[in-house]
Amino acid sequence: MQESTRIVRSTLTPVVAGTEMHSGPVFAAPYHAPGDPAGMPYTYARSHNPTWTELERVIANMESGVTASGEAYEAQAVVFASGMGAIAAVFGAVLRPGDAIVIPANSYYTARVLLREYFTQMGIEVRTVAAMGVDAVEAVTPLLAGAKLLWIESPSNPTMDVCDIAALCDAARAAGVLVAVDNTTPTALGQKPLALGADFSAASDTKSMTGHGDILLGHVAVRDAVLLAKIDQWRTLTGGILGPMEAWLALRSIPTLPLRLARTCENALAIAEFLATRSEVESVMYPGLKTHPGHAIALRQMTYFGPVVSFILKGQAAAEAFLNTAELLTDATSFGGMTTTAERRAKWGGDAVAGGFIRLSAGCEAIEDLLADLAQALDGLR
Ligand SMILES: *Cc1c(COP(=O)(O)O)cnc(C)c1O
Repeated sequence: MQESTRIVRSTLTPVVAGTEMHSGPVFAAPYHAPGDPAGMPYTYARSHNPTWTELERVIANMESGVTASGEAYEAQAVVFASGMGAIAAVFGAVLRPGDAIVIPANSYYTARVLLREYFTQMGIEVRTVAAMGVDAVEAVTPLLAGAKLLWIESPSNPTMDVCDIAALCDAARAAGVLVAVDNTTPTALGQKPLALGADFSAASDTKSMTGHGDILLGHVAVRDAVLLAKIDQWRTLTGGILGPMEAWLALRSIPTLPLRLARTCENALAIAEFLATRSEVESVMYPGLKTHPGHAIALRQMTYFGPVVSFILKGQAAAEAFLNTAELLTDATSFGGMTTTAERRAKWGGDAVAGGFIRLSAGCEAIEDLLADLAQALDGLR
């Protein structure tokens, strides 16, 4: 069966005549728990909730797959109130004083701030790699000795660098280092880190996974039962959990992921190809472009190249004028939604990008309209 069929049908309940086809949110704090609670699936909703269980089954199904050596595996997932909740859980469940983490400088900014402001203060060594692109294995290998965790983000947000996840996992395994991948941009439909050899697949499901700009959500997927228990325990102990309503909204959104991802990635490629023809654009970063340095690697490890296209215009003033003139590029942060958005990335600080750097997230609009709007906004820069 095609994966899209599996995902579209993944929120159906078992066929029992007269019962609902899709389950609704379960609002409860305590559950009936007479006698010995051992083995009861639900006792108190900070630990577990049936709507999370359903969402975790759906996401785990998408994270499951087949490794390069042909071994089929089943993933398990733990959902969090945001992508940062999921990332913090991996850091918190794995890192202890004296441990070292290897992380690229081009990975998600907030994750690096969390390490710098909190984890380094608690005796964790952060070994930063300038950028993980096509030569990441050479850059990372010398830093792996004695490390506990290797953090990977591919494609990286916002610069769309691509690194060879399987090769990095091989190098890490040889050094006895765990590997986590921030898989936000492609989603588990577009790329399966666990199949490529990672121990953790973490993601912000605020972006394409749910795709309607109405909830924050994150998850961590693993294959190993011990790692699963640690991540699950971290969530119960820290308690920053998502509500059943958010979990249910996610369950409504995920069956359209195959449609949304196909459309947004097709639009993103057309936009990237168009931008590459324009003299107002200094460079275009999209792994689906044949000219992208990581294209061959992306073809091997991704089934979709993602909705995000980054490009550089000639300076801050040009980028601001472009965004003001464009009518269909809603100026907002985040990505992976139904509507096309774009922003001048440097206005936020944090990422080392040029003043004219724009991160665009292709939506589901008709491509003719998007290309016409891009053309008129670029014409305005002449
Ligand atoms: C948005 C994002 C996050 C953080 O997710 P939130 O849901 O905003 O907490 C982490 N990693 C990447 C790559 C992201 O784009």
